[in-house]
Amino acid sequence: MGHEITIAIDGPGSSGKGTVARAVARALGYAYVDTGAMYRSVALLGLERGLNIEDEDQMASLARSLDIRFTWDGDVLRVALADQDVTRAIRAEAVGQGASQVSALPAVRQALLDRQRELAAAGGVVMDGRDIGTVVLPDAQLKVFLDADLDERARRRHEEILRRGETTPFEVVRSELHTRDERDRGRTVAPLRPAQDAVIVDSTEMTIRQAVDRVLSLAQERRRVVDTGADPQ
Ligand code: C5P
Repeated sequence: MGHEITIAIDGPGSSGKGTVARAVARALGYAYVDTGAMYRSVALLGLERGLNIEDEDQMASLARSLDIRFTWDGDVLRVALADQDVTRAIRAEAVGQGASQVSALPAVRQALLDRQRELAAAGGVVMDGRDIGTVVLPDAQLKVFLDADLDERARRRHEEILRRGETTPFEVVRSELHTRDERDRGRTVAPLRPAQDAVIVDSTEMTIRQAVDRVLSLAQERRRVVDTGADPQ
């Protein structure tokens, strides 16, 4: 009894998946893997080094040698590249757009895919991204696709930007989010879409707490099914 399951949470930018995934991982005592932070880190390194971030060979080489570490600092998940703390730097809008560009390169995805699977191999993990349920962990016992209207997601992103003490007009935030979504949905490799067996959770009208509770109750249900052996998978 008490099997640890694997939980995949996918969805567009600012759908709340990172916040929900972190809270669910904490509540269950599971590990949390932020795959977006991996793509963001590759983009950050490419930008910092003045490389062409659409050059597949160069970006794949950065992805293969990515020395990334996640550590908890209270409630904050710190991301370090070698010994450089990039927790804040990877959240810059330009890095998000860069991540969306490098993530469309198949060789970059392949390099990160192997790492992501290794991180989930032991079970007891919550992983979030765009293709976790469809490509990275197709056998995850629980797949959630967390969505919300573009306007609501833009409002959340805008608030987050203001909280960081930065100022970007709402319309710019909305349009950048829209551009990134379209690129993520339209790419040929691992496009953003719900897995066939994903539970779609629309958080437009939900608080974070409600979205977390919904995913936790789905997780408990899946664990019970796995424990009692009633799982047809
Ligand atoms: O989730 P986050 O906004 O941090 O992701 C940044 C970008 O990384 C996304 O816009 C997407 O292009 C890419 N990504 C991806 N596959 C994942 C996670 C993120 O393509 N599993």
